[in-house]
Order: sequence, then structure tokens, then C-alpha cells
Amino acid sequence: MSYGAGITQDHGSAIGNTFRDPLVFFDPDLTSGNTQATDFDFDDLTLPSQQSHLPLTDINTSQQHNSIFQSDDFNLGINNNNHTIQQRDLPFEDEEEGFYEKDLPKHACAYCGIHDPDAVVMCNQTRKWFCNGRGNTSGSHIVNHLVRAKCKEVTLHKDGPLGETQLECYNCGCRNAFLLGFIPAKADSVVVLLCRQPCASQSALKDMNWDPSQWQPLIQDRCFLTWLVKIPSEQEQLRARQITAQMINRLEELWKENADATITDLDKPGIDEEPQQCSLRYEDAYQYQNIFGPLVKMEADDDRKLKESQTQENISVRWDMGLNKKRLAYFSLPKANEEMRLMAGDELRLRYVGDSSKLTWSGVGHVVKVPNNYGEEIGTELRISQGAPIEFSTNFVVEFVWKSTSFDRMQAALKTFAVDENSVSAYLYHRLLGHEVDDLVMKVTLPKRFSAPGLPELNHSQVYAVKTVLQRPLSLIQGPPGTGKTVTSATIVYHLVKQNQGQVLVCAPSNIAVDQLTEKIHKTGLKVVRLCAKSREALDSPVSFLALHNQIRNLESEPELKKLQQLKDETGELSSADEKRYRTLKRKCESDLLRNADVICCTCVGSGDPRLSHGYQFRSILIDESTQATEPECMVPVVLGARQLILVGDHCQLGPVVMSKKAAKAGLSQSLFERLVVLGIRPIRLQVQYRMHPALSAFPSNIFYE
Ligand SMILES: [Zn+2]
Ligand SMILES: [Zn+2]
Ligand SMILES: [Zn+2]
Repeated sequence: MSYGAGITQDHGSAIGNTFRDPLVFFDPDLTSGNTQATDFDFDDLTLPSQQSHLPLTDINTSQQHNSIFQSDDFNLGINNNNHTIQQRDLPFEDEEEGFYEKDLPKHACAYCGIHDPDAVVMCNQTRKWFCNGRGNTSGSHIVNHLVRAKCKEVTLHKDGPLGETQLECYNCGCRNAFLLGFIPAKADSVVVLLCRQPCASQSALKDMNWDPSQWQPLIQDRCFLTWLVKIPSEQEQLRARQITAQMINRLEELWKENADATITDLDKPGIDEEPQQCSLRYEDAYQYQNIFGPLVKMEADDDRKLKESQTQENISVRWDMGLNKKRLAYFSLPKANEEMRLMAGDELRLRYVGDSSKLTWSGVGHVVKVPNNYGEEIGTELRISQGAPIEFSTNFVVEFVWKSTSFDRMQAALKTFAVDENSVSAYLYHRLLGHEVDDLVMKVTLPKRFSAPGLPELNHSQVYAVKTVLQRPLSLIQGPPGTGKTVTSATIVYHLVKQNQGQVLVCAPSNIAVDQLTEKIHKTGLKVVRLCAKSREALDSPVSFLALHNQIRNLESEPELKKLQQLKDETGELSSADEKRYRTLKRKCESDLLRNADVICCTCVGSGDPRLSHGYQFRSILIDESTQATEPECMVPVVLGARQLILVGDHCQLGPVVMSKKAAKAGLSQSLFERLVVLGIRPIRLQVQYRMHPALSAFPSNIFYE
């Protein structure tokens, strides 16, 4: 690139043969601020006056001295916002297994996670990156690291304003960052890095009108100079991991034994140790993840153990065929008890053991019917109908197939909350962690009429709730039974959509609650899609017609898909070419339907479905029955972009069901709603709708609040 070459060449000649490979920088006064805009113009820079005789190739072959002035580098430096998002293409049809995971980029500060390429530096010895922010310590993270680990050499990020550059003395090649400095040039637009001794005091400089007494170190006040490495903004630093000097010390100690250790290893409890207790407030989302992650793991382990211990032998099977031509197996489990908590959609493995001389068979199916009473049958739809031993009815074994999907999604949400700054708004981030934040009232145009079309008229306390919620980024609604909380929630969702805030995500921990809310929201005339887990698609509900998989079936706009669907339904199986075409079309239609919906309804865990993860951001999220969800469960929808969060629940009712006693004791059984109440956020209370004397009902219901 000619600009870079022009400048570096020039200095090669200006300083003469004494100096090695040229490593030059623009004068900070000239470059500062210029990296922000795309209209960066190289013609604005005054090039040094002398011309050079250095051949171009010499400069270009010098790898570590990447010329820093190429315009491409600047462009890269500007478009640096996409580093956190690593989208994975997941297999579609069986995506129950999948979940969306966000990770910090490699160049994230090993202390605090900040990863703006302008603000990070790599330590050459350890190849770890550190930011130039101080966080809670007296020196910047990079300087802290260099001092504590006795490292000295650093490289700038390739996407930073100066490009990938190893810092070293222009003259002698010394790379000790603590000895390096520069002399601000008077007229020239370039600066040269020089070590203090001996190079900065060499006589050659005088020939160039550089004054050695003007030499300044690159590290000042325990930070790198900001024209070299930006200091991350205050906001970035607040949103990052809050690491203390003490934690830094421990981490550096850990690295001496294990270079790959991360800060999460500091908090890892030993195998027999009690887990860390949940707290009311968290320093940052990393601490939050470090506390909840192990609790979710415990719960997952207990769940797995319990489910896998449910193997039952000597089961008799009654075979049937579903309308969709899938094989159904009915059986009763003598030991189906409360503890097993069998739910529709759960997977069971059915094995025919027969007598030992014959071949055995096993097939997986998901539960389509759960017994309501003792002795009732469980219905299972087999995934693969062919080959089922329908001629036999006895000697079967039923095993539970445990799936980690729900727990994986909670873990992924905890991680996203920590590493992805777009997962929630800054306000919600600090609020959810219990930090002190000033109340925020949003500027919105309130509707003239609060009741929504198709729904019952609201009473005073409901109007008050709707009005308040619309103006706040975070609201808790306490709605005991009989207060019309579903109608109120649906009305809120209606107005959120009408305010043009984009798509609204509506969740609840249970499918029943999601269905009820879906039904009410549909009545307002909004376009609603109910997203179900694949394993639950065969189940019927009052809102089946709103379920994504059924809307796809009834789609008139895609006759080819409809034909393939019919074929699949009739024959049970498609040829592999047809199946491929069918999946492609289905995926496209699903994506179109989801994108065009006003409201998407699903369970909390269901919102971790990969179909919602690719590029979806929900500004407004309402979670009903949130007092019955664990905190990590609630976070699955929340991290999908929440700017406005409404938690509906009743903290006087029972909290979430947690099976692991250890995890429950550590605090997993406290809901997010409840913690926020303890933190002092007052829930808006819906009032029981007594039939009041007309005179009394004219009173503003606010009067009854506390
Ligand atoms: Zn840092
Ligand atoms: Zn180092
Ligand atoms: Zn030197």
C-alpha cells in the first residue's frame, strides 16, 4: 500500500543507516480521533518532506513491523462490533439438542473480558490479551499483568487503529515496553518508538531536530498511552467483569501452574465442597454465572440420576397407530410416581426383551399422553414406526431418556449474559445484578384507551398496571388468582406491539400458562406464533392452530411444502431428496412466519430454541408465572435482547420446583422476581375484583395500595 510505504520509506532514509527496520507512528496529535469516522482521509496528513531510497520490498517482508498506515487497517478498526457473535449453523430437524452459545473472542482481556480491538494488547510471552482499562485496580490490566507476571513485550491488535504491531525500539529492537518511549516530533507527522537508553539519547536524533529531552515513556501512570491503546469507555468497564487486585493476584498464581486457567477456575468449588450461595447482589454477570452455573449443573445431575433410575421391567404394551401414521405404544407403569414427574414430550426408550433366544428390539418415542390418575396409561409415539414388534405385547422394558437441553440452554443464557453486551440493556444489566441505578422512565405515547380489543374492559388496578408498565424498563406485576393477570398481561403485550417496539416475546415456565396467554393475545387480533418443542408437536392444546408447526401445515402460500407434507403424512416417510427439499422449504416458511409475527409465545426454556437464536432480538419480553421459574430459567428469554422486561407472578405462591436439595439450599429455589422484590423493587399489585358498591368503585384503586 503506497501510503504506508511512503511514510516508512521516508524515515528509513531520514534516520539513516544507524536504524533498523522502520517502526513509525503518526504523531498522536494528528491521528487522535481520526479512527472513528469512515471519512478518514489520508490526504489530510502531512507526509514527511524527504523522499526515501529504501526499496519497497524491504518494508513489506518485515512481518512484525506491519506498516500501520494502510487504509484497509483503518476500515477494519472501524467495523469491530461483530466480534462477540459466533453464529453456529445447527442441524435443523433435530435441533432439540442444540442451543446457541456466545463466547468472548480470543482477544478479550483475560482479566475483565473487554474486547474492543482498539483497547487491548497482547502479551507476547503468554499470548494472552489484556485491556488498557484500570477497572477496579490502580494500573491498567495490561500493565498489571506485565508487572505481576514479569512480562515485558506486547503486540497491538490487528484491528486496532495502528494494526498488528509489535512494540519495539526502532533503533536497537529492544522490546521492553517499560523502556520504550517516543519523542514527539515538532513538524513531522510521525513518531518513532525508541528505548530510553541508549537509543533516545543518540546523536543521530539531533540531526533530525529531535530533542532527546522530550522523550516520553509509552507507559505513563500505569497505563499505555491512549493514542497507542485506547482506554475502554467507562460504560464498557462497568459492563465488564469486575476483577479486584486480589483476584488478579490469584489468577496470575493459577497461570503459573496452568496457563489455560480462566478466572472462573478461581470460584470452582471442590467436588465435595458446598456450592456458593446465591446472593442478593452480584458484582458482575461473570460472578452471577459462576454462582448459578454450578447450581444448574447440580440440578441437571440430580434430574438425570432420578430419571435414569426409573427403568421399569415386565411392562405390557398395547399398540396403536396415530392419525399421522406413527406407531403408538400404550402401557401403564406400576411405579409411575409423583417423583418421576413424567411430562408430555419426555422421551422414553421401549425395549423388547422377549426370550433370550430371539432378537431384541428397542425404540425411542416421546410421551404424548400422561396419566392423570393412578392406573391410567401412558401414551408414547415412536420416532421410527418401522420394525416395532407389534406382534408382542409383554416383556417390555421402559427406560427414561434424559436430555440435557433445558439445562444446556440455561447455561448458555448465563454465559451470554456475561459475555454479550447486547444481551440486555445496560439499565437491565445493572438492575438484575442488584446495582444502584437511577429509576428510568421511558418516553412513550400512552394509548388513549387502555383496554385492548377482544379482551374484557380493565378495572382500575389493571389500568394502573398497564400504564405503569408501559413507561418502565423493568416491572414486576403481582397478580394473585382472580385478579385477571392474564388479561392484563395480554393487554400490555397488545400496547407494546402497537407502540412499534418490534416483536414481543412472551414466556412462562409451563406450557399451560403459555397457552393461556397465547389464547388471550390472539383475541386482540395480533399475529401470534406459539413456538413448541419438537417433541410436543403431536400434543393438542386450545391454541394448537397458532403453533408454528400447524401454521406451516396450513400455509396456502407454499403449495409444494403442502404437497410434501401430505405425502409425508400418508406414507410416513419421504425419499431422501424429498425429505431434504421438505426441510429446506419448512425452514424457510418457519423463519418467515416467525419474522412476521407480532408476538412469539413459548416456554422460558423454549425461547432457547435455535430457531429464535439466529439474529433475533426482543426489546420487550414478558414472563408470566415468573415466580415459578428458577432464575437461570428466566434468563433464557431475558438475554435475547431485553430492553423492557415485565415479570408477572405471585411471590406469595410456591416458588420453582428444584430437585437438588443442595442447589435449593444454595438459593436456586428463589425466583428472579422474588430477589428483585427483596432488592426493593415494588411489584405493581393487581386487586381482586370484588363486586363493589358503585360509589366505592369510583375510588382510584391506588388508594388501596399499602
Ligand atoms: Zn481488562
Ligand atoms: Zn505476560
Ligand atoms: Zn533502543
